[in-house]
Amino acid sequence: MIWVLGEHRGDYIKPVTYEAIEAGRLLSDSLKADLNLIIIGNNLEVPDDLLKKTDRTYLLGHKLLNTYTTYGYKKVLEDFLKDKVISKFIIPGAFTGMDLGPLLSISLGITYVANVTGLDVINDTLYVKRLLYGGKVIETLSSRESAIISIMPRAFTCSGDSKKRGEFLRIDAEVKEDDLMVKVKDRMMEVEKKDITEAEIIVSGGRGVGGAENFKILEGLASIIGGSVGASRGAVDAGWMPQTVQIGQTGKVVSPKLYIACGISGAPQHLAGMRTSKYIMAINKDPNAPIFQIADYGIVGDLFEVIPWLIEEIKKIKEGTQANIGHKKKVTSH
Ligand SMILES: Cc1cc2nc3c(=O)[nH]c(=O)nc-3n(C[C@H](O)[C@H](O)[C@H](O)COP(=O)(O)OP(=O)(O)OC[C@H]3O[C@@H](n4cnc5c(N)ncnc54)[C@H](O)[C@@H]3O)c2cc1C
Repeated sequence: MIWVLGEHRGDYIKPVTYEAIEAGRLLSDSLKADLNLIIIGNNLEVPDDLLKKTDRTYLLGHKLLNTYTTYGYKKVLEDFLKDKVISKFIIPGAFTGMDLGPLLSISLGITYVANVTGLDVINDTLYVKRLLYGGKVIETLSSRESAIISIMPRAFTCSGDSKKRGEFLRIDAEVKEDDLMVKVKDRMMEVEKKDITEAEIIVSGGRGVGGAENFKILEGLASIIGGSVGASRGAVDAGWMPQTVQIGQTGKVVSPKLYIACGISGAPQHLAGMRTSKYIMAINKDPNAPIFQIADYGIVGDLFEVIPWLIEEIKKIKEGTQANIGHKKKVTSH
């Protein structure tokens, strides 16, 4: 059996879940095994489109599972999976998955493979591509054994097609307060803002931005191109940006279509979190900054001059496009 763990925030199913299902579907088709999804939570509604993508969806519910806790989730997963056949278990390489993967590997006695970007099955043998050394090396591993596999965000594209609606099973999980090891007293959420791992464009700032106030200039650029604002640890440690948007080894791993690094030197720990972005653009006044080594586009200059100039140029292009559209409309109406 192929298993997939869903990642969600309340009723909102995160896009990485759909990507994980895509990876699971690839394996279930090749290995001719059923595809099962596990969602853990309390009083959740599972959307119909999700149920159509797998053979079976299990909702493990309990009031103590309202909020994610490492040991609460670990306990219910252990209990649930102990008598199940696990061929491969796919977990999204986002917050929950990265936290749970290594622990589950130990408690279930199954190999854990992290940061996976590609899967292939040849003659019943699984070939796994994964990133090492902050993305500098791509390693290919082969295995016929059970494995827990965490996939990198955006490594697998969701296909729109779906199967017929699979089975839906609600399971009452057994968990006690003592199992959680922690007591969640409060939960703060930036409800308005999109999770940075889901953004298609990220404008990210580092110590070169020089202060919390100055991040407004990055927000200006982000808003005009439909992006979100991220930060290096340098900027987060200085207290200019919240930890929730830190990108890198000890922050979030992102893989947007466009990553614009402003005043970020390009330390290996930062690159580990954004190296897999489709296009990288760097703005830095130091021509020798390491970030330029991985950037597709580089601008050597002061970000306080370059960003306003960029914003103006983008505005001109947008106005030009709108003027053209307006002109075309005028012509067709005559
Ligand atoms: C165990 C460990 C884990 C870590 N995890 C992370 C992590 O998750 N994420 C992370 O980011 N870091 C992480 N770090 C820290 C990392 O090593 C760097 O210290 C950090 O990334 C540096 O942040 P920075 O690039 O913003 O600052 P700096 O290295 O100080 O770079 C600032 C850059 O801004 C440029 N600059 C200055 N002024 C301007 C201007 N006006 N216009 C344009 N450019 C300008 C400078 O030329 C310079 O290149 C970790 C370190 C360790 C040891």
